[in-house]
Amino acid sequence: MRIRRLKLGGFKSFVEPAELRIEPGLTGVVGPNGCGKSNLLEAIRWVMGEGSPKSLRGGGMEDVIFAGTATRPPRDFAEVSLLIERQAGDGGDEDADGESEVTRRIERGAGSAYRIDGRDVRQKDVALLFADAATGAHSPALVSQGRIGAVIAAKPVERRQMLEEAAGISGLHARRKDAEQK
Ligand code: ATP
Ligand code: MG
Repeated sequence: MRIRRLKLGGFKSFVEPAELRIEPGLTGVVGPNGCGKSNLLEAIRWVMGEGSPKSLRGGGMEDVIFAGTATRPPRDFAEVSLLIERQAGDGGDEDADGESEVTRRIERGAGSAYRIDGRDVRQKDVALLFADAATGAHSPALVSQGRIGAVIAAKPVERRQMLEEAAGISGLHARRKDAEQK
């Protein structure tokens, strides 16, 4: 799986709609302090289904919505879309080549909603799509600030989770739990 494009609007400091193409290879984000580098990475993790506001440096999930500045009013919603390229072998139900657009939107007072190619889906569907492709909100492919230190300081059980994400088997745990409940 490859991320081809990131679109965001109303997300944290990215108040105006923005679109970024992501080219093959390693992508680094550079810029002055406070320009929104970490916010970009958080947008990617958020659309992948991140459920913890704390790991997005917020107190509640609505804190990802543009909160306004001295000169701009706050927004009522935030939306982030990822255009992904799937390759056969990524795993999952739709194990074929193709493109998909995954979107997450949050409205004040209304919570989050997810879409894949315009179809309403559950958070779980989005999380599984990425988990099967060995990526996702906690993927080692997304190296956030402080992450290197966190890997070094991780407890064995946490390190195991990181390895399972990297190996693309974390989706299996979610499926097993699901199956056990049925
Ligand atoms: P550094 O180099 O210091 O790590 P950075 O480029 O990673 O900086 P970010 O942390 O991504 O910067 O962006 C911080 C900016 O985003 C701050 O100016 C902060 O006010 C703004 N910001 C965060 N959340 C919101 C929000 N909900 N609404 C408006 N602005 C926000
Ligand atoms: Mg930062």
